[in-house]
Amino acid sequence: MKSFVSIEDIGILEAPEEVLSTMTKDGKRKWLYPIESKGSFYWKRLALGWGLIAFFVLLPIIRINGKPAILLDFINREFAIFGMTFFPTDTFLLMVFGIAALLSIVIFTALFGRVWCGWGCPQTVYLEFVYRPIERWIEGKEHVRKKRNEGPWTWDKIWRRSLRFAIYGVISLALANVFVSYFVGWERLLLWMTQPPAQHWGFFLMMAITTGLILYDFGYFREQMCTIACPYARFQSVLMDEDSLIVSYDPNRGEPRARRSKKKIKQELAGEIEAKGDCIDCFACVRTCPTGIDIRDGLQMECVACTQCIDACDSIMDKIEKTRGLIRYTSERELEHKKTRAVRPRTVVYGVLLVALVSMFAIAFTSRGSYDINVGRNVGEPFTVLQDGRITNRLRFRVRNLKNTPVSFEIQVIEPANTETRIIGVSPTPLAPFEMKRVEAFVIIPETAFIEDDVEGVFNLIFDDSTTKTVTFPLLGPSK
Ligand code: SF4
Ligand code: SF4
Repeated sequence: MKSFVSIEDIGILEAPEEVLSTMTKDGKRKWLYPIESKGSFYWKRLALGWGLIAFFVLLPIIRINGKPAILLDFINREFAIFGMTFFPTDTFLLMVFGIAALLSIVIFTALFGRVWCGWGCPQTVYLEFVYRPIERWIEGKEHVRKKRNEGPWTWDKIWRRSLRFAIYGVISLALANVFVSYFVGWERLLLWMTQPPAQHWGFFLMMAITTGLILYDFGYFREQMCTIACPYARFQSVLMDEDSLIVSYDPNRGEPRARRSKKKIKQELAGEIEAKGDCIDCFACVRTCPTGIDIRDGLQMECVACTQCIDACDSIMDKIEKTRGLIRYTSERELEHKKTRAVRPRTVVYGVLLVALVSMFAIAFTSRGSYDINVGRNVGEPFTVLQDGRITNRLRFRVRNLKNTPVSFEIQVIEPANTETRIIGVSPTPLAPFEMKRVEAFVIIPETAFIEDDVEGVFNLIFDDSTTKTVTFPLLGPSK
């Protein structure tokens, strides 16, 4: 029976050099080969990760209130979000929505730290549960890959690398299609795919760039997205405090760390020799870390809270028959043997602000009404005097149906008295769900109406769902 906790048991590593985790001493990129740690957190993250991937693919496909669950159509300036449809005229609503979303991130981070990074961020989900498993499948385990990558270009290295990137390319193209469908919708995407590229060269260019960026990110850039590029990581230090949830090593329990045999650990437990800390300095937590850090050095910006070190350390604790949780979810206060507080000044202030914003949004959204109407004057002459002395103004009524049912409307002039409207086009004007139409009309006003310079025109827009909307617009005529 082996008495030492060997490399086969737990994979002891030499201590890494004290440089940036993803950089060699001479400043070159250091490739990381994080080892998979299949503990309880891994399986939960895997299930959630694949759930989120399915969610990401389905969101532009499933329809709510006749629209995709998410459609950010910048070309037609129409934004559908979970059954709510916004237009550029909804600037206030979109602004409140945006601020509320930002505040939600702030409050979530204050309470749960970087849980999003480790569990929900596409960078982590796709890298850990799609791209890296493919790499392991084609190129083998970490130590095999490292040896091959650092060696010369052999046929074995060439075909494995080529196959991996070919599969990466196909997956990246599929993801790019899903991503682009968030902006153009699936129907349009499928239509464009069946038409000649020259007809939609902008779309094909966008697709090629998106595919290239995804491939570059997951094939090469990888953890640097989190450690160098992501702004959220830079902000976390101001968003989090000593009560925020973190993944942390417990130095009270782990120190003084010492690499030692199982026999010695048993002697320590029996009180035969002086007890050391629970950390046996095996580096399993470092070898599994996707950002290459040593969590025992304390809270670091590079930590994405992925929990892989928890799983790795828990399996070591099982092997040396110690309680799990040397690395665990905790807070800085808890590590100081104080109680973690969920309710604290910053969470209360953020919470109150969030409730106020959500209420404001709900009130503004529900009172938005069913139609958005805007009246303007057509370009050209402000008015024309007819042979019989009457005055015409050419106006433009822009009407949007904000409902998901079709409707039609007609325009009637109420004031000034004896004024006529001549609609250019069809009247009543049909409007499909969420459709916007511009209706031009000549408004013919009796000369006697212009006692003063300007006259206020009052118009009723009568919809076939028994709604009547009244709008006013100044009518112009000759100066008196
Ligand atoms: S914290 Fe756990 S996994 Fe990390 S070196 Fe110590 S015993 Fe090993
Ligand atoms: S330190 Fe642990 S939780 Fe943080 S990134 Fe590394 S493995 Fe993930």
